[in-house]
Amino acid sequence: MATVGELTASYGNFLVPVLAPRSGVCTVCKTSVLPGYHTCYQCWDHTRNLSGTADVVAPIALSVKGGQWAHELSSYKNSPSMSARGSLALRIGAVLWRWLDAHEPCLRQGAGVAGFSLVLPVPSTTGRADHPLPRILRDIVKLTADRTAELLAPNPRYPPGSREPGDDRFLVNGDLRGRPVLLVDDQWTSGARAQSAAAAVKLAGSGPVAVVVLGRHFGTDWSRADLREAAESYYQAARGQGWDWSTCCLCADAAAHQ
Ligand SMILES: [Zn+2]
Ligand SMILES: [Zn+2]
Repeated sequence: MATVGELTASYGNFLVPVLAPRSGVCTVCKTSVLPGYHTCYQCWDHTRNLSGTADVVAPIALSVKGGQWAHELSSYKNSPSMSARGSLALRIGAVLWRWLDAHEPCLRQGAGVAGFSLVLPVPSTTGRADHPLPRILRDIVKLTADRTAELLAPNPRYPPGSREPGDDRFLVNGDLRGRPVLLVDDQWTSGARAQSAAAAVKLAGSGPVAVVVLGRHFGTDWSRADLREAAESYYQAARGQGWDWSTCCLCADAAAHQ
């Protein structure tokens, strides 16, 4: 049986870190923003359209369009080969395990809690019945196995694949009152799904909510020149920083890079 260290060893070669908040970085989802902006448009939009949002969001790595991590985060669900899906689930689970082992304390600190007694996968809204993420959290990642529960279900009122944020996008089945929640998702594109899930658990009376996502969708192919330049300079800074398992976007020394 391969160890977490062995399963994740090659990831240091291609994972691109997510920058810690500073000028040019969204304080919520940590993507690139124009200088002078506190958050990206979508994170701002969520605060207008949702009654509550996550207390802290940590994407593990950039999911760069056309890159290896983006490819894996799609293939672990979509590959036609069952054995390819299985081995990717194992490796992606190992990445999450290794990252949580080092940085769950950063999430606890960001949310201001002593621990997360509940780990909830954010359900797919594309109508997929057998999503591998809950299985990864229950069966592969030992750190989350005993805390994982599937208490969220997509509200059928929303069409499959909708990117609209809403307090009622997810229905909550279970008693969350007062319990700090760690939401886990594979990809953050607009963040509408994860933030709608955060709103739903908070409306159900949960304690503070943290979100960890495996990949923060990232592209530099903006048609607007200023956005493209901001994304390119972010990407260069992230590549320059390089991958380091002991650093995340919450604990990286942002001041050192300013
Ligand atoms: Zn953002
Ligand atoms: Zn950290």
